[in-house]
Amino acid sequence: MAATYDGIIVGAGHNGLILQAYLGKAGLKVLSIDRAETAGGGLATMENPRHPGVLHNTHAFFQRAITAMPWYADLDLKRHGAEFIEPELNVALLTSDGRALEWWTDIERTIASFGKFSRRDADTLRRWRDEFVPIVDGILMPEGLSPPLPPERRRALLQKSVAGRRLLEVSALSPIEFVRREFEHPTIQAGLLFFNGLREVDLRLPGFGHHIPALLASPAKAQMSRGGSAALARALERAVAASGGDIRVATEPKRVVVENGKAIGIETSSGELIRARHFVASSLNPHQTFVDLLDRALVPREVRARIEAFQYNLLAPLFALNLVLREPPRYAAAARHPELASAFMVILGLDHVDQFPDIVRHHEAGTIPPTVMWGACPTLFDPSQAPDGLHTAFMWEKLPYHLDGDAASWDRARDAHGQVMLDLWRRHAPNLGDAVIDSFTRSPLDTERDLPNMREGDLLVGAFANGQVGRNRPFIGAGHYRTHVPGLYLCGSSSHPGGNITGLPGYNAAQVILTDLGIKPDWAPSDLEARFGSV
Ligand SMILES: Cc1cc2nc3c(=O)[nH]c(=O)nc-3n(C[C@H](O)[C@H](O)[C@H](O)COP(=O)(O)OP(=O)(O)OC[C@H]3O[C@@H](n4cnc5c(N)ncnc54)[C@H](O)[C@@H]3O)c2cc1C
Repeated sequence: MAATYDGIIVGAGHNGLILQAYLGKAGLKVLSIDRAETAGGGLATMENPRHPGVLHNTHAFFQRAITAMPWYADLDLKRHGAEFIEPELNVALLTSDGRALEWWTDIERTIASFGKFSRRDADTLRRWRDEFVPIVDGILMPEGLSPPLPPERRRALLQKSVAGRRLLEVSALSPIEFVRREFEHPTIQAGLLFFNGLREVDLRLPGFGHHIPALLASPAKAQMSRGGSAALARALERAVAASGGDIRVATEPKRVVVENGKAIGIETSSGELIRARHFVASSLNPHQTFVDLLDRALVPREVRARIEAFQYNLLAPLFALNLVLREPPRYAAAARHPELASAFMVILGLDHVDQFPDIVRHHEAGTIPPTVMWGACPTLFDPSQAPDGLHTAFMWEKLPYHLDGDAASWDRARDAHGQVMLDLWRRHAPNLGDAVIDSFTRSPLDTERDLPNMREGDLLVGAFANGQVGRNRPFIGAGHYRTHVPGLYLCGSSSHPGGNITGLPGYNAAQVILTDLGIKPDWAPSDLEARFGSV
């Protein structure tokens, strides 16, 4: 007899697992399935096959304010074994002339660091931070924690308050326009763009100017998971088990089964039918969900056109150089800045705002730009990630997926490029000349091989361009976690508010699915419209 659940989730990354745990807590019997050997998706930590006990975080490592996320408390993840570390010197950009631009968890220290580059920029930072704290608290954070409003409704509500109008005004700019208009020092401009813009949105696009002041005002700092990123995945799995859910790994779906117009289950690639009484939710990308898993006849022409028009981020793919070390990197700049010995995220190769257009040009041409990279030495903060006497460190660089027009080029270009990164790293940390015991690289193509939902290596699973934001993410008509097929929902990074380890697509999808099932999500924040009204 076919197995039957209340619901089935395809893809047991963190978004799928968060959705599953909330639904389980509401009394539903839910199954998640994943093609990989382990659940967690981007929350991946692997043991080095040549060095037992040495752990590498091959996907997400820097996690922004996880412990402040409502799901972290609601799902009792601390009790389930999650633990986070938030180093005080959160980010340091080391310039080629040995200076350091620093972001601290303490804003006053950040302002002091900016002041060493430009007094005026330090004052500007404080002004924008003060102005944006209420906008982040009253508008942007509540928006992330709720299913998105229709764009016209959102705009009309924002127009009603001073804070809302200010947000609309600033967001009409592109991030590049914003930093060029507001800040004067080219390294500060570059640092602000890198830290926020380049990592998430196309810096040239109007509509995202508010990302920079929102970053300055946000209490969300980079954290890391003790024991490796996968430790958070294990805690989520325990939360799912505690809520009565089942997780099946190494299980590939063949199709979403639709009967009488409603999604009623999954057929696996081995031909097994798993039934779902109420829903199927997909945390995969739109191509996988609607093209690979749905019969063509079930996808109307206009929906197919929207999927074909869906875009992935040109600038998101990452190349990684991973090292096993005898000792942590020791940066030459620490002679002038001793605090760098405990810097968490370190940015190298970035001096000037004018490097950005050049990086974009290289991505468009499928060529490798001069290296700008960022990374960390996890074992400095969490010795459990390597045996005594050993350390791990990594650097990431944004590089094009279609290298020389073909992603397959990565398999022959990767080692040479790893060496280019190591050369730059050694110029800043000369001790790496002797300290490296082992290394390996991972390319944007490897990302897609591991996690095919990250098509073209796009770790955010969908551009924020092409109108693919808010209620229109992934596309018009599917931006409320519901799809055109009754009973079929979306819950992954292709939905609002997008990629990275935020858990919010899963959190918001849980609100929508429970509401559709007539179950009140009593843990959910109060109505977004009412909150906007009170700003
Ligand atoms: C190199 C790299 C570095 C990153 N660094 C950071 C970082 O520092 N901070 C941060 O916040 N984010 C980072 N990210 C991004 C982050 O990992 C993703 O945005 C996040 O994992 C998306 O979560 P998700 O749950 O939506 O999808 P995923 O985590 O990708 O989970 C999707 C799941 O679906 C499964 N799946 C895929 N296809 C199928 C299929 N056909 N059938 C069944 N299952 C399937 C996958 O195996 C996976 O388990 C990084 C990503 C990469 C690649």
